[in-house]
Amino acid sequence: DRMKQAVSRTRESLEDRIETVLSMTRTVDDAALEELEMSLIASDIGVNVTTEILDALRERAKRQQIRDGEELRSLLKEQLKAILDEQARPPRTVANPPEVILMVGVNGTGKTTTSGKMAAHFRAQNKSVLLCAADTFRAAAIEQLEVWSQRSGVEMIRSKQGGDPSAVLFDALQAATARKKDYLIVDTAGRLHTKAGLMDELDKMRRITQRFIPDAPHEVLLVLDATTGQNGLQQARLFTESAGVTGIVLTKLDGTAKGGIAVAIARELKLPVRYIGVGEKIDDLLPFDSEAFVESLLG
Ligand code: GDP
Repeated sequence: DRMKQAVSRTRESLEDRIETVLSMTRTVDDAALEELEMSLIASDIGVNVTTEILDALRERAKRQQIRDGEELRSLLKEQLKAILDEQARPPRTVANPPEVILMVGVNGTGKTTTSGKMAAHFRAQNKSVLLCAADTFRAAAIEQLEVWSQRSGVEMIRSKQGGDPSAVLFDALQAATARKKDYLIVDTAGRLHTKAGLMDELDKMRRITQRFIPDAPHEVLLVLDATTGQNGLQQARLFTESAGVTGIVLTKLDGTAKGGIAVAIARELKLPVRYIGVGEKIDDLLPFDSEAFVESLLG
């Protein structure tokens, strides 16, 4: 299936290594577990999560509860899935449409692309969508979103470049309400003159949204580039601390063998992964499914 294909590079590397580990030793001994530890760290699952998983596996191995490679594989799957599921939350029920989704994150992670893909995703479910081009800082962002709006057959609210993002957001909130849209997707700036400036801007946008629709924004999705691995995680903390992030979109999983970063994100940021980006095309966005993801990761 699509997730399997997309995550196949990760899968090859992680699975191959685990296969090697398992074929090297008939029994699950210390050396085998150490190899596994290295493989997990190499896949960007992170040192903390890896240590936690290995501690549990070593404990079981000591009590001779892991008889062979297959058992080790299924225990590992169970643990990875548990970490991902710990953060799973049912989508919020929206009292009055539109459901407002703010897309945040640094430039180049795929915010604009993901906004466009999401618009198409909701359209395919027969929902009405309005796009808001609130990244008025990056010159090409508005034009780029315009292309996506045409591709997905979704209307877009824009202002000229350099305009006030709060003003365009206000217009979009008004239009989405008046036109009774199911969703309003807001593409925000990933860079301003200063980090503090950017966080203030995002905070202001959240307050405007809230004043307009009391239980909104319903989602603040932080877009992270999977190829930046543990560095991206560092950068993500800044946003989660000040932008009220409710979930993650992990992009460019098609371009990395380090899909383990999804597990690190769930644990370290304590946030659910909502969608994954697996390419540059309009249907290259998949709702996240922990079972399928772990299955893709470990075979
Ligand atoms: P923004 O600055 O955060 O709005 O980022 P963009 O949406 O402009 O995306 C930056 C680049 O990443 C573009 O060339 C996109 O086509 C590309 N991109 C976005 N998502 C994905 C993905 O899931 N896979 C791949 N391979 N490329 C992506």
